[in-house]
Amino acid sequence: MATSRSQVVIVGAGAAGLLAALRLREAGLDCVLLEARRRGQWGSRYSLELDSGSVLNGVLPAPNPEALLHEGRFGADLCSPGRTHRQNVTPLPVFAVRLWKYQRQLLELVERVGVEVHFGCEVTNLGVDDRGHTVLSVLQAGVEVRMVADLAVLASGNNHRFDRELYAHFHLRRKILDREYLAAQHDLWEIDPASVAGNSPSPPGVVNYVIGNEGPISTLGFWVSPDQRMAGLLAGSLPVDGWRPPAELLKEARCGAVRFTRRLAGASGHIPVRRPIESLVAPGVALLGNSGCQVYPMTGCGMGLIGNAALLLAEASREYCREGRRLEHLWNYNHRYQSDFGARQAASQVFLEAIRCSPWGSGLVSRLFELGLSRPEDYLRSLDLGPVAPAPLEMMKRLPGALLLERDKGRYLFAAMGRAAALSQAYRHFYPRRPDGMKVRSFFARTASMGG
Ligand SMILES: Cc1cc2nc3c(=O)[nH]c(=O)nc-3n(C[C@H](O)[C@H](O)[C@H](O)COP(=O)(O)OP(=O)(O)OC[C@H]3O[C@@H](n4cnc5c(N)ncnc54)[C@H](O)[C@@H]3O)c2cc1C
Repeated sequence: MATSRSQVVIVGAGAAGLLAALRLREAGLDCVLLEARRRGQWGSRYSLELDSGSVLNGVLPAPNPEALLHEGRFGADLCSPGRTHRQNVTPLPVFAVRLWKYQRQLLELVERVGVEVHFGCEVTNLGVDDRGHTVLSVLQAGVEVRMVADLAVLASGNNHRFDRELYAHFHLRRKILDREYLAAQHDLWEIDPASVAGNSPSPPGVVNYVIGNEGPISTLGFWVSPDQRMAGLLAGSLPVDGWRPPAELLKEARCGAVRFTRRLAGASGHIPVRRPIESLVAPGVALLGNSGCQVYPMTGCGMGLIGNAALLLAEASREYCREGRRLEHLWNYNHRYQSDFGARQAASQVFLEAIRCSPWGSGLVSRLFELGLSRPEDYLRSLDLGPVAPAPLEMMKRLPGALLLERDKGRYLFAAMGRAAALSQAYRHFYPRRPDGMKVRSFFARTASMGG
């Protein structure tokens, strides 16, 4: 069997794999990027929002005009179920992009900096050789090839195929519950401009989000382009809890008076809405993107986190590969990610879980809107990956609304906020600084009860 060698092999050319390749190469490492799908079939056919902070501070490359769908300058309406209450955010600090075109743009950048990219190369196995190098079995056009690397970056998405190998050879536990995935679908449609007038839930250019129609953490987004020729539809729900799947929600959303003539693009997927995997690294391997559950649970946004994680990973990998593959160096990626972004994800997961199981059921979102307890600032803070709870002064302003809550339910909500804040602090101060599997397990055992 043919064997090839590289400093770093990246598995998967989704957003995570591409950003990792770009940053690792910029850090001076030799990288090979392997993608299972063939070039013609590759690319995620949905649109998504990049928080503008990540784009403007260079964490994510700025989307080129071909990839850009809109810049959010017309804003968004956030609505309670049935659109009974509405709040406006203008401008909405996002860049909405056609992901498949943005991926193509990233691919060009990656190839330009000299990364070898191979499509139609499926990694089928992962292990360690007797010198401690990572060994990957790769299937390319029916031929099996062996690749040996100092480091393998797994950016293979939600895929659970390597879980057993990760546990057996690297002692990495990647256990995700079904209810920790949000099902989501995004479609882009061509529409009849004559049918728009007065029929779209928000004016053209303004994104209309209904939160909580199909279970407390569901979303339905509807956007008509300013020229009224295109509509974007987004739905997210938790079918494991018995709620209708996104495809059904989108079908229903298309039954209004706006005439949908042709589907231009669209895709569905599952988004892990939880804290990151317990440890993102082991000797010779690192997890990135959905593979490491790097998504902010309250919004389902992963791109800003992936961009930040790729930068941290590149810095740590450079030291790891140059300094004799000492795990302490690679651990810096894990520790820095967990104690900063992991803290935010964990707090957000606690709050999301509390909403999911709230004693109000589906009535929660309406009640929060009605009492002024949910405000546009909360949405903006979530987009910025900020803290779950508002600042103390902001809390004071909401006190009159909070006092109108039924006492037991108010207590429930504030207890969830308290747990979220405590867990976030635990991640910030007590996530192990040095590689120690026992300490990581003990950290998770001790913080489990804070999750609620
Ligand atoms: C409908 C929807 C809407 C979303 N909206 C937003 C949003 O608005 N903002 C935001 O920030 N995030 C959003 N997200 C989340 C975001 O899309 C993800 O965080 C991000 O795309 C994850 O990228 P990834 O590279 O980790 O995984 P993926 O995109 O799944 O890429 C994994 C890649 O690995 C390849 N692969 C898998 N196994 C192998 C193998 N064995 N060998 C070789 N290659 C392999 C796959 O073919 C694939 O190309 C949304 C997700 C969905 C589904």
